[in-house]
Amino acid sequence: MTILGEMLIGSRTVKGTSKAIQAINPATNENLEPLFGGGSKEDVDAAAELAWAAFDSFRETDPETRARFLETCADEILALGDELVQRAMAETGLPQARIEGERGRTMNQLRLFASVVRSGNYLDVRIDPAMPERQPLPRNDLRLRMIPLGPVAVFGASNFPLAFSVAGGDTASALAAGCPVVVKAHSAHPGTSELVGRAIQAAVAKCQLPEGVFSLLFGSGNEVGVELVKHPRIKAVGFTGSRAGGTALMEQAAKRPEPIPVYAEMCSINPVFLMPQALNARGEAIAKGFVGSLTMGAGQFCTNPGLVIAQSGAELDTFLEVAAAELSKVATQTMLTPGIFSAYCSGVDRLKGNAGVREVAVGQGSDAPNQCRAGLYVTSAEAFIADESLGDEVFGSTSLVIECKSVADFVRVAEHLEGQLTATLQLEDADIEAARALLPVLERKAGRILCNGYPTGVEVCHAMVHGGPFPATSDSRTTSVGSAAINRFLRPVCYQDLPQALLPEAIKDSNPLGIRRLVDGQDQR
Ligand code: NAP
Repeated sequence: MTILGEMLIGSRTVKGTSKAIQAINPATNENLEPLFGGGSKEDVDAAAELAWAAFDSFRETDPETRARFLETCADEILALGDELVQRAMAETGLPQARIEGERGRTMNQLRLFASVVRSGNYLDVRIDPAMPERQPLPRNDLRLRMIPLGPVAVFGASNFPLAFSVAGGDTASALAAGCPVVVKAHSAHPGTSELVGRAIQAAVAKCQLPEGVFSLLFGSGNEVGVELVKHPRIKAVGFTGSRAGGTALMEQAAKRPEPIPVYAEMCSINPVFLMPQALNARGEAIAKGFVGSLTMGAGQFCTNPGLVIAQSGAELDTFLEVAAAELSKVATQTMLTPGIFSAYCSGVDRLKGNAGVREVAVGQGSDAPNQCRAGLYVTSAEAFIADESLGDEVFGSTSLVIECKSVADFVRVAEHLEGQLTATLQLEDADIEAARALLPVLERKAGRILCNGYPTGVEVCHAMVHGGPFPATSDSRTTSVGSAAINRFLRPVCYQDLPQALLPEAIKDSNPLGIRRLVDGQDQR
């Protein structure tokens, strides 16, 4: 398939006439062909109106049709073959194995959501039959099901060009819910976006769905993104990226005449607490595992362990020595974009320039463009608590160790943290009492609490929570990874005393979809 630099508006392809985007190979700083014309207000309007026109019929597609559509999207992405892998590698600097792994994850996410649609559980059907004889007042017949919110604007992430971009988790969960999707492609990987967009466009046609179910727009400089979020036909937003970008879109959404939800996943430093007995028993192994997690993928993961909390003493000294030895061997890795590289360098300079921070080790250097050089720094609990800037995310392979005088300081540090995607405990049985004091704080601060592992690596399954209080995300009640992500794009409707002939299938007495339902408080199928 040739990459033409075109937007996809329903079944049409459109060459944008606004400011063009050109992808850059971050490993060489060379421009990649072709130019991608940016979208205009009119293009946003066309895509949003088509999405709205598709909404009512798409949301009432039977579960099998919608599930097959999601599976067809996965098949069409795989059919793009090596061209997709090569283009994604060139646009992101990520290695082949990572891109192929991500393609697999993207297809699995689509298939997971197909199974969610087939099960019907996401409809959360509740039926409280009428009780005409009830005293002192009769009860009406009341039936609840979830319906989709409407067209969703999706902003692809730079760090997951497949699994959290055009056909990524936000798109898959919104389509599964029955919401048409308009994607604002990330300007760092427009060619990858066009290829995947064409695969979804082909799946829409193959499954004979209304064309407005999916559109893809390009645009750099915020105009297209802002117009999309402001558009009255758009009813929700999914975003992964910077805190500045996410909060700007939250503000746009909140000041609309009809405010809409923005599900933004933004920043997290993912504290790792080294409980004393674990540090004593396994300090060396923990240090090696930690450096592996920190430096994987140049640290460009939202779950990168950017903060380590430990008690000062000989055990911590050993941990730092081993971590320093490991880290100093790590070669540089290409970062996703020159912008992300430059933000990384500023973050590292900020740490280096802080009088309360000491450098422990840096990785190997390189003169090649956009290279992430890993780094490990130390500060005290007092300095960390006194200086808000030390809690800011440094997106890349740099982490800050906080030396505490006692385990009681762990709780003070935890209380001081902003909202996080994850919090990790390295512990032994003898640490459990100390960890018990920390757990309630971590529950308030993070979306996922893990033990004796590392936060990188997010399983896509039913129990996963990839969310957390602000600024990890804009809405701590949700997750952007895993099957529960569908709930972000649904709302409940209650049907009171509607005749059977008028009721949607999910809540008819005969249960034609054969789904699990809560009838008069009892689980029934
Ligand atoms: P970004 O700058 O927030 O961009 C994400 C998307 O939002 C892009 O499509 C961008 O448009 C758009 N956008 C950004 N600000 C906007 C605004 N004010 N109005 C309308 N649209 C806007 O994120 P990024 O480029 O992926 O990475 C930049 C930084 O974000 C990184 O250095 C890192 O700190 C953080 N980040 C965090 C995570 C995480 O998972 N926590 C992931 C990735 C990045 P353009 O296409 O025009 O740029």
